[in-house]
Amino acid sequence: MAANVPFLDLPQQHRPLLNELNQVIGGLIADAKFIGGAPVAEFEKAFAQYLGAKHCVGVANGTDALYLALRVLGIGRGDVVIVPAHTFIATAEAVTMAGATPRFVDIDPVTYTLDPKALETVDTKNVKAVMPVHLYGQPADMDPILAIAKKHHWHVVEDCAQSHGAQYKGKTTGTFGTFAGFSFYPGKNLGAFGDGGAVVGNDDELIDRTRRVADHGRQTKQLHGEAGVNSRLDSIQAAALGIKLKHLNAWNQKRAQAAAWYDVRLKELKGVVAPAKAADRTHIYHLYVVQVPNRDKCLEFMAQNQVGVGVHYAVPLHVQPAYKDLGYKHGQFPVAEKVTGSCVSLPMFPDITEAQVDRVCQVLSDYMKAGS
Ligand SMILES: *Cc1c(COP(=O)(O)O)cnc(C)c1O
Repeated sequence: MAANVPFLDLPQQHRPLLNELNQVIGGLIADAKFIGGAPVAEFEKAFAQYLGAKHCVGVANGTDALYLALRVLGIGRGDVVIVPAHTFIATAEAVTMAGATPRFVDIDPVTYTLDPKALETVDTKNVKAVMPVHLYGQPADMDPILAIAKKHHWHVVEDCAQSHGAQYKGKTTGTFGTFAGFSFYPGKNLGAFGDGGAVVGNDDELIDRTRRVADHGRQTKQLHGEAGVNSRLDSIQAAALGIKLKHLNAWNQKRAQAAAWYDVRLKELKGVVAPAKAADRTHIYHLYVVQVPNRDKCLEFMAQNQVGVGVHYAVPLHVQPAYKDLGYKHGQFPVAEKVTGSCVSLPMFPDITEAQVDRVCQVLSDYMKAGS
């Protein structure tokens, strides 16, 4: 029987770093340093520098990062924020958490990111911001999005939860909007050993306020200027992220190599739609997502053949039960609905081998030959 291929292999990715990680984390435990301090400040500085941004504030998770960005921009009740219909629900949840309402738009059929053309026709009433999502690791088409946002005086808050290091026209995602939110959920391209996130931005005052809101609205130890929240990045997580950040570019390059192996093999496989890479962007392949006929049958076939696959995501946000009160209808965003109905995420991680990619493509080819 052929060897199985996992969807993701984090233990393997961490193995070469275990000594360093154990030493640094062990030191923090020995000193009982868990909140704030040097590890958090050092990671914030290193990550901002890596991106080419002025500031980074470590927070508890990516959803909070997006929520804090919107809240600090003064977006709340009565306001509307434009969100692509095809993304992880956290993008829209951040809007809901801020007290505002998401307004969904369709995605581009080639890159699966927010379609700038949809911004030309969307109802702009009460819109205060737009949230492009650099989905699967490929940047959204930022130039037209920024131009339309500027025309309407909308803020741009980038959802970078899947795009650590991805570039659009030579500039790193997370440096285009007023704010960007990052997630360090373990499976992301830069992942912590638990939850973590970051707010990134260039405006000194807005960042200062973000830092305070995320720490109970503190002005001083005893004085709270506003009722904030508790959303901090743990010292242990920051230390681990600092160690892993040094390897992020190499890991992203290995993912791109694996994607190139997939691309060559899938080009010959009729009926399977491989991901397209826009020429003006780098794709960091957080996920390698294909479209297949009869998706559920395909999932079953892959599982039977011990290939780990995922679905990101099966139900677009405008028809999620959570947002049924907004009154959207099936059929309203045909591209998002087509992609969510046929997408399969294939195994993708830095250490995946060419033989493993071969195996995945062989199983997919067998599925197509079996009449899908
Ligand atoms: C993971 C993710 C988030 C949320 O991040 P958490 O750290 O899990 O809260 C937001 N948006 C997208 C697109 C994501 O993939």
